[in-house]
Amino acid sequence: MIPGARLIILGRQGAGKGTQCVRLSRHFVVPHISTGDMLRAAVREGTPLGQAAKEVMDSGGLVGDDTMVGIVSERLNSDDARTRGYILDGFPRTVGQAEALDLVTGERPLDAVIDLDVPRSLVLERLSARRVCRDCGTNYVASGNERQPWICEVCGGDVMYRADDTPDAINNRLDLYEQQTSPLINYYQATGRLTVVDGVASPDEVFARLTAAVEASRRK
Ligand code: AMP
Repeated sequence: MIPGARLIILGRQGAGKGTQCVRLSRHFVVPHISTGDMLRAAVREGTPLGQAAKEVMDSGGLVGDDTMVGIVSERLNSDDARTRGYILDGFPRTVGQAEALDLVTGERPLDAVIDLDVPRSLVLERLSARRVCRDCGTNYVASGNERQPWICEVCGGDVMYRADDTPDAINNRLDLYEQQTSPLINYYQATGRLTVVDGVASPDEVFARLTAAVEASRRK
């Protein structure tokens, strides 16, 4: 394995993208750039960006393209991303964002764009059971038998629903995915850059499929 990579991982929310991206970022020794995490940090810190984004996020909507392209361009220009690469998780989410990203990455094109494919019915089930540590962001799956209050094993923080994991917001996000994000599949397919990875398997198996897909794309 050669360290360093420039990757985009697409897929519905709840496809297990976040956890797999963390593993991939360790494997390839590159920063994991999650736009959702960046926005949640801005909300926690009460920055102007966070204040503007909070309502949109809570309703499951999308933050405007110009704002998102600005944040991501700045992050991709930092030293670690320029030298080692990155894994983009949650960006791009619209064709407009993808076009802007192509301009930003011009000289250093992507190694792979992967669609982690998990059907809507299954992600709906998973998202309804998703809980997250308010402090460190570790994800958990609720079985219904947890002791309350539920305390994070990693940092001792409170484990709770993500603010945007209400049934309405989940449905809204999945509808938006079909309308705005799934056209990205065609966008990347048309330029021969897309690999679809079946995300319905154990986490270890999905991880093995993802790393194999990255290596295969690099050999192209
Ligand atoms: P995520 O953690 O990726 O599910 O993102 C959480 C929320 O942040 C999304 O539902 C959107 O409201 C917002 N968000 C994250 N990334 C983007 C993006 N690339 N474009 C627009 N909104 C975004």
